[in-house]
Amino acid sequence: MDQSRADILASIAAEVRACKLCRLYQNTTNGVPGAGDPNAEIMFIGEGPGFHEDRQGLPFVGRSGDYLEKLLAMINLQRAQVFIANVVKHRPPENRDPLPDEMAACKPYLDKQVDVIDPLIIVTLGRFSMGRYFPGGKITQIHGKPKFDDRRAYYPLFHPAAVLRNPNLEKEMEADFKRLPEILAQVKALRAKSAPKPDSNQEPPPLPKQLSLF
Ligand code: SF4
Repeated sequence: MDQSRADILASIAAEVRACKLCRLYQNTTNGVPGAGDPNAEIMFIGEGPGFHEDRQGLPFVGRSGDYLEKLLAMINLQRAQVFIANVVKHRPPENRDPLPDEMAACKPYLDKQVDVIDPLIIVTLGRFSMGRYFPGGKITQIHGKPKFDDRRAYYPLFHPAAVLRNPNLEKEMEADFKRLPEILAQVKALRAKSAPKPDSNQEPPPLPKQLSLF
């Protein structure tokens, strides 16, 4: 029987909460698998849970979460309409950067979430999620510049926490964010174009027996 997207995401979340594949689960309160609409068109990927995220088991709560919600409201979206996840699902001690072996251990969870949700846009927030899709990219040079493949757009943005630390980035962040609806429309047009068309050379299907004329 086909599992629904929500069911598959719930089983990934259960695996994350019980996971001990890397050292990061130690001394945490909760795993933070990610949250949001299983059918989201836009998926945000941040770095890792912080203090408040660890306490609540939810991504992007606290000040960064409030700011992200403010940005979403600018394009008439609420957090429940998007999906938000992180590169690592347990909080690194003292909010240090996640290490390469930790990101590698955690990668299958995020890969599976992306496969299941199949978002039209993946928005990377910060340099570790950006590194997944823009290896070697520099955020100051590539923020707000989408990259397309045949399924979706990848859109690198500053991390909300970085903007809160440096309010000079606010204008650029807001301008980048406001482009999301336009990029969404571009991906929808691309997917519609690449959707298989009915083959005009194909034989028409045979009439069902009971409608056959002879
Ligand atoms: S960070 Fe990822 S790989 Fe490491 S223990 Fe948590 S869920 Fe497992």
